[in-house]
Formats: sequence, structure tokens, C-alpha cells
Amino acid sequence: MARVFVITGPSGVGKGTLIRRLRETLPELRLSVSATTRPPREGEEHGRDYWFLDDAEFARRVGEGDFVEHAEYAGRRYGTLREELDRHLGEGAPVVLEIEVQGARQIRETMPEAVQVFVVPPSFEVLQQRLETRGTDGADTIARRLEVSRTELESQHEFDHRIVNDDLEATVDELVGIVRAQLDGAAAQA
Ligand code: ADP
Ligand code: 5GP
Repeated sequence: MARVFVITGPSGVGKGTLIRRLRETLPELRLSVSATTRPPREGEEHGRDYWFLDDAEFARRVGEGDFVEHAEYAGRRYGTLREELDRHLGEGAPVVLEIEVQGARQIRETMPEAVQVFVVPPSFEVLQQRLETRGTDGADTIARRLEVSRTELESQHEFDHRIVNDDLEATVDELVGIVRAQLDGAAAQA
């Protein structure tokens, strides 16, 4: 039964929001803190939001085989650290990864038992609005992310679970249902 949950989908679709809400309902679920070479946004903290690494350190850790998956996204590197994932799993906790599509594909290869959920925006226009309203990125960055999202959206059918994040409460319920079914199944097997 799955102990690793991958939430993927384009930037701005609501992955972070959904995971926050999911973990309020299922507090045993741990979030794997990723590493990235992008600079911190205002209010982001090293070790809480990301492990912020410089290019050399990220490359060194790729060379050491420290990543379960890693990818380049909009000119920056992102990856899931093996030690982060193993620590939570070793403590018996289920883990959620918030990653982009290339990383999700790598996890599908190496951990086929992981449950993957692709979050779909109601429309491309709504996705753009959400990125703009979030207010964390400048116009160039938003344009670049929207460009990437076109390709990402084309890959949504690779994923077993697709949920359209239109009404937030309904989407949270749907996501909780998917995760809870797996965790209950795992508990029944134990
Ligand atoms: P991601 O983590 O996928 O980049 P965020 O969780 O940061 O996306 O969400 C992007 C923006 O959209 C945020 O401002 C968030 O509050 C908003 N948002 C998320 N889900 C919904 C929803 N269902 N309806 C309206 N706004 C939403
Ligand atoms: P942001 O810069 O908005 O925090 O993240 C940009 C994109 O990188 C998002 O789609 C996010 O899900 C993805 N991302 C975050 N952490 C990881 C990771 O560890 N691996 C991969 N492959 N993508 C990640």
C-alpha cells in the first residue's frame, strides 16, 4: 500500500494550498522539504519551505546520488533529498511530495507504488489569474511558468488521479478521499 503521495501539476494551480489543507485533516502526513537553487521568496525559510542550495552544492549532491528525483524547472533546479524522504518513512509516517511533472515521472519509475495526483486548473485563464493574485512572482517569471504549464497540462493523462481545483473545499475533500483510502488500506493490511 502506498506511503508516498506525489502532488503535481502546474505552478499556481493550488498544490501548496491543497497540501496545507490535506495535512490539517491528516496530520500524520509529513511534507518532504525539497532542495532548490532558486532564491527564497519573502518569508520563506531555509529548512522549512526549501533547502536553498547554490548551484555548486546542488550539483555536488546530484553527483553523490543524494536525490530521489531532480529536475530543472524554469531555469532553476529542484529535487527531493533521499535523506528527507527516508527519515519520514523510517519513522513510519506517510509522506507527501510537491513536485513538478518531470520529477513525478522519475518517482513513477523508481517508486511505482507511490500514489500520484495531478492537479488541473479549471482553465488556463484561471491559472494565470492565480499566479497573478498570489503576487509572489514578477511578470517575466509568470510568463515563463505559464509557458511551461502548457506542456505540463498535456501530460496530465499519464496520471491515475486527476483532480480539477475549481472549488477549493470540494477539491480538498476529493484529495483527502484519495489519500485516506490508501492509508486505511495500509492500516488494514498491517
Ligand atoms: P502552487 O503551489 O500549485 O504553485 P498555490 O497553492 O500557491 O499553487 O496557489 C496559487 C494561488 O491560487 C494562491 O494565491 C492560492 O490562494 C490560490 N488558490 C489555490 N486554490 C484555489 C481555489 N480552489 N480557488 C481559488 N484560489 C485558489
Ligand atoms: P516554486 O518555485 O513555485 O516553489 O516551485 C516551482 C515548481 O517546482 C513547482 O511546480 C513545484 O511543485 C516544483 N518543485 C518543488 N520542489 C520540487 C522537487 O523537489 N522536485 C521537483 N521535481 N519539483 C519540485
